[in-house]
Amino acid sequence: MNGSQPVGRDAPVTEQRAGRLTVAALRGAIPGRMWGGKGCGVPCDFCRVTVGTEEIEYEIEARLGSEMLMLHFHPRCYDAWRASRENDAPAPGK
Ligand SMILES: [Zn+2]
Repeated sequence: MNGSQPVGRDAPVTEQRAGRLTVAALRGAIPGRMWGGKGCGVPCDFCRVTVGTEEIEYEIEARLGSEMLMLHFHPRCYDAWRASRENDAPAPGK
């Protein structure tokens, strides 16, 4: 039996992709104005799945630090994002 396995890496996994936010960064984003409409073929910022042109997409203007971002979500992902932000909020009274 040969127990050795190749440890090949096809691509560096630690590299941040420009324009894609981590879940942690998304949680820190403060939502502002939002719009709903048909998908425009860009990936959802929450689940990374492209919002089809036949699907509803929410566009959220959000502030992250000093930057303004435009986020794209499926409706269900928008709900999940909002829920994750609320769950992550520090408990009051500390
Ligand atoms: Zn999504």
